[in-house]
Amino acid sequence: MARYTGPVCRLCRRERAKLFLKGSKCDSMRCPMERRPYPPGMHGRGRIRDSEYLVQLREKQKARRIYGLLEKQFRSVYAEATRRPGITGENLLQLLELRLDNIVFRAGFASSRNQSRQFVRHGHVNVNGKRVTIPSYTVRKGDVVELRPKAVQMIVIRHNIDTLDRTAPAWLEVSSGDHKATVRDLPNREQIDTQVKEQLIVELYSK
Ligand code: SF4
Repeated sequence: MARYTGPVCRLCRRERAKLFLKGSKCDSMRCPMERRPYPPGMHGRGRIRDSEYLVQLREKQKARRIYGLLEKQFRSVYAEATRRPGITGENLLQLLELRLDNIVFRAGFASSRNQSRQFVRHGHVNVNGKRVTIPSYTVRKGDVVELRPKAVQMIVIRHNIDTLDRTAPAWLEVSSGDHKATVRDLPNREQIDTQVKEQLIVELYSK
């Protein structure tokens, strides 16, 4: 599946917010947002008139970039969110949270969603005992996501487990010793700490 392969720190600067796309670099002083917290390009520091459309667009781009989706993929997640009962914006965030690559990231096995996506793609992750290599795979309540035995030996994964101090959300039960994460429940809006205003995304797509 296609993915964005360009410079990611530019994306944070474009959104004028830290999107935490680079693992440990994001928490260090090497983060470009510490030194240049304005949009890239020669007009980056110019005055921007925030129209209603621009505010909605930026919010959508931010969500899309946090979870590492291209426009078409994001649109199809949104379409699925509209089909489900309940509030569309909350459904959208819930579906994004339930992606397999996000679960691996939330469980603290990967330093970024990009890295967790690679782990899934390379076949290092099982769901309910079976290898799944699709990062967009939607997990369900009760599913057990687990690192495969060979993956546990990998230096990068061992390093992540030892050093990442990430608190798993309440809806995910993580057992670092067993390298397992169990989806206890479907996440509700209060349990999702992603800093986006999902209502603006719904307004944008409803035009
Ligand atoms: Fe964004 Fe992380 Fe790059 Fe900082 S280091 S600009 S938070 S991706």
